[in-house]
Amino acid sequence: MTTTDPAARATELRAILDEANHRYHVLDAPTMEDVEYDRLLRELYDIEAANPELVTSDSPTQRVGGPPSTLFASVRHDVPMLSLGNVFGADELREFDARVRRGLGRGPDDPPVDYVCELKIDGLAISLRYEGRTFVRGATRGDGTTGEDVTANLRTVKAIPLRLLADPPGDVLEVRGEVFMPRGAFAALNEQLERDGKPLYANARNTTAGTVRQKDPAVTASRNLSIWAYQLVGAHGLESHAESLELLRTLGFPVNPNVRRVAGIDEVIAYVDAWADARRELDYETDGIVVKVDSLAEQATLGFVSRAPRWATAYKFPAQQVTTRLEEIEVYVGRTGAMTPVAHVTPVLVGGTTVRNATLHNIDEIRRKDLRVGDTVVLQRAGDVIPEVVSAVVDARDGSETVWEMPSTCPVCGTEALREEGEVVTRCPNPFCPAQRIGGLLHFAGRGGVDIDGLGYKIMLQLAERELVKEPADIFRLDVETLEGLERLGRKSAENLAAAIGAARRRPLARIINALGIRHVGEQTAVDLATWLARETPRGDDESEAAWTQRAVTRLRDAPADELTEVFGIGRVVAEAIARFFDDEHTRHALDRLVAAGMVAEAPAPGAPVEPVEGPLSGKTLVVTGTLPGFSREEAEAAIRAAGGHPAGSVSAKTDYLVAGEKAGSKLARAESLGVPVLDEAGLRAILDGATPE
Ligand code: NAD
Repeated sequence: MTTTDPAARATELRAILDEANHRYHVLDAPTMEDVEYDRLLRELYDIEAANPELVTSDSPTQRVGGPPSTLFASVRHDVPMLSLGNVFGADELREFDARVRRGLGRGPDDPPVDYVCELKIDGLAISLRYEGRTFVRGATRGDGTTGEDVTANLRTVKAIPLRLLADPPGDVLEVRGEVFMPRGAFAALNEQLERDGKPLYANARNTTAGTVRQKDPAVTASRNLSIWAYQLVGAHGLESHAESLELLRTLGFPVNPNVRRVAGIDEVIAYVDAWADARRELDYETDGIVVKVDSLAEQATLGFVSRAPRWATAYKFPAQQVTTRLEEIEVYVGRTGAMTPVAHVTPVLVGGTTVRNATLHNIDEIRRKDLRVGDTVVLQRAGDVIPEVVSAVVDARDGSETVWEMPSTCPVCGTEALREEGEVVTRCPNPFCPAQRIGGLLHFAGRGGVDIDGLGYKIMLQLAERELVKEPADIFRLDVETLEGLERLGRKSAENLAAAIGAARRRPLARIINALGIRHVGEQTAVDLATWLARETPRGDDESEAAWTQRAVTRLRDAPADELTEVFGIGRVVAEAIARFFDDEHTRHALDRLVAAGMVAEAPAPGAPVEPVEGPLSGKTLVVTGTLPGFSREEAEAAIRAAGGHPAGSVSAKTDYLVAGEKAGSKLARAESLGVPVLDEAGLRAILDGATPE
């Protein structure tokens, strides 16, 4: 219930916003959409502006972020890390400019203010401290005054220079920037979680924050975070913000290439307009444009209000929201048995795309938002891609709306659904559920699998229902006549599909392994397995690809878990999952049947050198990182191979040595944290020399 009494409403808003802040900044698990948070915060600002006596020192309008976690040592920021004021729309940008001009004492006839426009990166603000050229400490913003010491985690972020490229001005340098997870890395992470049957992350921003604010640097290292630096703390004799960004570039920091210095607010507005759509093409999330007064002297004149500088503001892009009607909620059962409620809405255009369906995630989300079938709902394309139902328009209800409940049984096979203690996901536990089977078949035929163009959900469903396809191998037995008999498939489409199936018969071994959908086996693991198989089963001189494929898959099928743990890149959990897959009666011969149906792997050339070499590094895995004075990376790796060793790309507990040169970064940190011995070039040469005694 909202109230019209400003004092009561302010109290109510503070309670809501405090709770939202805690979830967002401390728990990294927000339950409110950002637009809604911004709207409520703006409402509180407006109330406080109209009733200054209502302002309290602990109001969310006066504070930055959330309190630092006790998991980490605290870092006190000598110069506070502030938030930014928000503006929405061109009119508010002009008001910002008017305030700046007033603050600088510029009249209507004076020249325009020079601004720097930057993309507002949606990640986590951090501060980096350098002593001399060396990175010594990284901290989060925390509550603006005190942040968390996350140095060990930040050391693993490759884009953060551990050593500056040039001498910095002064003995101590503080640089601020936004750590973020590129969209590609976020998508890959979620794909892996999906394969593992784990809940997915909601957005890249909170995943970034969670990744930086957890205790294990190995986890941070595995997440492919990056950074854009956007502020040098202190003037260091420079005159403008633009110059300081240039200096940051020279010192080796990544500075976003889209930064522009512009003259006057009209050019700011043009910049904002130019990025409204173009930002979707970027490989990272942005939620606005930051506009900063360029002159450092003018910044000093303008100063700060309680939680933000007066010389900068954040223009927030309008969320792409529309209203439509929630017509029906249907449950989809995925490959892992997860039952996901999906909203069918009256088709509506959002940000240039017609949306018919939107995920509702799980029953808890539906209850929290109190969504009812028949509701008018606010729909948004969150994270710029996935359509999401934000809220119900409660005032539009006429009493005909109905509360929805998760079905207690699987809508596809009727098995009683399960929801495990502490899990948000409801699952169908039946491994033979046709929905899970169809999910598995779609995965097999999908892009990560053998990639059969045109074999989508509708066709697969018909094939499964008519029992034409029960398992992947059956796909390769389909002919044009059978396909033509399916609904909505004419002769031409049937021919195209048959041709696509034919083309998918020969694929790299790694793709075939990935296509099987073995739990925990994603693209990289499949590549590791295929590489191992190529080495274990070298192709004979006269051996056909088909014969080699059969030999390789038999080798994989019969490998015990203990042996698989020896394969580079494969740990115990994964090895056991693979062994379990091939122990299962139904899946044991899945690969053989594929081969029998004509599937072949692109085999290595006959006689390709895959025999392990004997030498002083036999059986050892080494990772080379940084710049070695006397070796290129390739030369070092070739030398390791020649000594019988296995050069690998990433450091794990199974790495025997890390060879680290100049500018070794996250791999060195990871090796140190895992206790992997580190060699310099001399150390490596000493071992190699042992290989070829004079
Ligand atoms: P803000 O995110 O709006 O602006 C300040 C931040 O912008 C800086 O700390 C910095 O991290 C970032 N930034 C990105 N690029 C920058 C650049 N080029 N130059 C300078 N700064 C840059 O303000 P805030 O106080 O950090 O947080 C508010 C944000 O958090 C809002 O987007 C709000 O919607 C969201 N929030 C959401 C919830 C929720 O429950 N959904 C709760 C609290 C806050």
